[in-house]
Amino acid sequence: MLQPPHSSLQIAAVPAQRAAARDRDQDAPWHTEAVCRRDEAGLFFAPSKEPTAARLSREEAAKRVCARCPVMVECREHALLQPEPYGVWGGLTAAERRVVLARRRRREMELKKTPRPGRIAAAG
Ligand code: SF4
Repeated sequence: MLQPPHSSLQIAAVPAQRAAARDRDQDAPWHTEAVCRRDEAGLFFAPSKEPTAARLSREEAAKRVCARCPVMVECREHALLQPEPYGVWGGLTAAERRVVLARRRRREMELKKTPRPGRIAAAG
């Protein structure tokens, strides 16, 4: 992302290519309004070997920050389109984003299978 939100502290925690992608997006307009750009930097990415209870608590705290962020929708779409494999983005954890992406893929497949009215008329 821009490096959203979760700035330099997290860059070290993600693969180099992800950090490069974030750097490329750094100037995206929505990024400048990210609430997490200014504070709460440690909430968005897991430290290594984080216990489950601590992770759940941290993720909920990050989501509360996202809930008051004016660019949550833009951030979420960015994280889904990249896709961003780590951290909380746009109020969603990595696991939640995988579910959203799977639903989108399933919906797209269903739409492809559904005959369009124009095709039916032409065929008939
Ligand atoms: S939605 Fe959350 S992760 Fe995204 S920019 Fe806002 S505070 Fe940061």
